[in-house]
Amino acid sequence: MFGEGDPHAPLMVVGEGPGRDEDLQGRPFVGRSGQLLERLLQEEMGLERKQVYIANVVKCRPPGNRDPEPAEIDACKPFLEQQVDLIDPKLVLTLGNFATKVLLGTKEGITKLRGRAYPYRAGMLVPTFHPAAALRGGGEVLAQMRADFVRARRLLVPA
Ligand code: URA
Repeated sequence: MFGEGDPHAPLMVVGEGPGRDEDLQGRPFVGRSGQLLERLLQEEMGLERKQVYIANVVKCRPPGNRDPEPAEIDACKPFLEQQVDLIDPKLVLTLGNFATKVLLGTKEGITKLRGRAYPYRAGMLVPTFHPAAALRGGGEVLAQMRADFVRARRLLVPA
């Protein structure tokens, strides 16, 4: 699965990899995580899903929803890099450990990395938790995600 959205979007969202629903439909973020992503985009950034571009680190579903393996991430990385080149977004929002680590080129975990923005290519990158973490972890994770989405909005639309 490649990705979808507005090829001229100023915001690119990068997730981990397709889950079962995404694999069945051939579209990124159409399951429960996608519903939460759409809600946060709408409520905290005033954006519809079709106004952004959505992609994943790995382009095939890891069997049984296991974590993607380093070799799989390496195999898919050139495609992700080319997607970022083509979309050339002002801001990249990474969801979770895998997207954040691969694009920032760090081994540091998401809990440490989130809470600020990083210069990335010609623009910025805002890391946040994966929506699945909020679905599992509840209120505190969701509150931090909301704060990260607001941070992203301010970078996209300076006050
Ligand atoms: N989780 C992801 O990381 N990507 C998707 O496309 C769906 C769920």
